[in-house]
Amino acid sequence: MKIPFKTLIFLSLFTLHNSHFSATGTSPPPNVVVIFADDLGYGDLSCYGATKVKTPNIDQLASQGRRFTDAHATSAVCTPSRYALLTGQYPFRVDLWPPVFLKTGLVVDPNRTTVADIMKRAGYDTACIGKWHLGFGTDTPNWNGELKPGPLELGFDSYFGMPVVNSHPPFVYVENHHVVGLDPNDPLVYDQVAETRIFDEKMGIDQIGGGKAAHGLYDDEYVGTTLANRSTDWIRGHKDNPFFLYFATTNIHHPFTPHPRFQGTSQAGRYGDFIHELDWIVGEVMNTLEEEGLVENTLLIFTSDNGGMINRGGQEAWKLGHNQNGELFGFKFDAWEGGHRVPFIARWPGKITTGSTSDQLVSNIDLIATLAALVGENLEKDEGPDSFNILSALTGKPTEPIRDHLALAAFRKTHLSLREGDWMYIPNQAGGGFSAKNVGDHGFGGPPAIHFAGETNSDMADGALKLDAPKEQLYNLRTDLSQSTNVIREHPEIAQAMKKRLAEIRAAKGTR
Ligand code: CA
Repeated sequence: MKIPFKTLIFLSLFTLHNSHFSATGTSPPPNVVVIFADDLGYGDLSCYGATKVKTPNIDQLASQGRRFTDAHATSAVCTPSRYALLTGQYPFRVDLWPPVFLKTGLVVDPNRTTVADIMKRAGYDTACIGKWHLGFGTDTPNWNGELKPGPLELGFDSYFGMPVVNSHPPFVYVENHHVVGLDPNDPLVYDQVAETRIFDEKMGIDQIGGGKAAHGLYDDEYVGTTLANRSTDWIRGHKDNPFFLYFATTNIHHPFTPHPRFQGTSQAGRYGDFIHELDWIVGEVMNTLEEEGLVENTLLIFTSDNGGMINRGGQEAWKLGHNQNGELFGFKFDAWEGGHRVPFIARWPGKITTGSTSDQLVSNIDLIATLAALVGENLEKDEGPDSFNILSALTGKPTEPIRDHLALAAFRKTHLSLREGDWMYIPNQAGGGFSAKNVGDHGFGGPPAIHFAGETNSDMADGALKLDAPKEQLYNLRTDLSQSTNVIREHPEIAQAMKKRLAEIRAAKGTR
């Protein structure tokens, strides 16, 4: 019998893994599914305290695994957060701060090792499904041509999803290297649809006029179900090999466009309904793993790319009494906790204690080192340079912190901050996130924000900076998780030491 070369490679890797895993009594290498939600805040799930929405599937996941209370997106902004997850390198090392839009090429050098590359090295099948938001191509992408390099050049066997999210045109799906349903006789025109968009404040929906060619294949309200079906189909098709699925949902980024059957089901408006759809999506993945007998041997991680958003359409939910970020201060784009502290749940039956919680400081940047350890791959010097192996925080109960520090990026470069132990040091005033002339605006430039939520703490009064606010900020998160009091005047020596360390961490530049 002739055995294909790929199979031989796989069998040899499989044997290696068996020897690696025999030490821990585990048989075949575990599958890994990472569900990466978009803009889901620390207070957006019932297992994290939400009362206006119900998330029974995600709650069940938490009850079957471990829920982290001090997990962070490495950046409070979409694109750099995703960059960190895939590469294990701080995005500030390559000067990556804002979200990319559709005129930007791929922001990850194909030569950089990603978490998908690591899983490929270990013989896994890999897929990326959902929101990409890291650009395509070497320069400006040609939406009517080949979108390359992209996910397939970064270690994924296949890709299906949307380039950014459905608040930015063109509204299309991309599969591997091409827009789905592309018609050369009716080419896509960048921004063509955007110009006719009107924002519906109450619904948080951008009403759009027009629509051409591949745009017509894309219906906002069916994105969640489409991505869920794609993901469950992919799992079913790869159940015989170890697999790694990176599933980045568009839920719950605005515009909030749940499938009609979820509309009106929450007590937090369309925002809450979109969370309900997200919960259904997670349930679909869980059900599929169950039906295929894969639950026991799959590490399932659920987290979010940044904190919840209160401006824009999120106001409706906020007015209805839903706190996107729970008791945290600030929101998406901010250096404050609401910008980057996010839900993080991990399930792996028999390995992760059911119904447990952990207050270990962890981050999505830790994925590459953790999965490398999981599959027995070594990382070379420049692979995942800022990633920590947090496997013991998933499967054990370390008494000491794995991370003694974590640098956290906001939208503005001036607000790269440092977490050390209980302390959070922010080297500037205010949150470093959105700016706005008017309360509730969604601005990217200009002066520091006037936040819709009218943030108030010892430095801020109704969203505006107090005249006597210190130039920098220091919070003790153990005693003041809500960051109500900037204590930098009481502890200047701590702030000084953290400032120095932050400068040292920041000094090392990287390559994309
Ligand atoms: Ca996001």
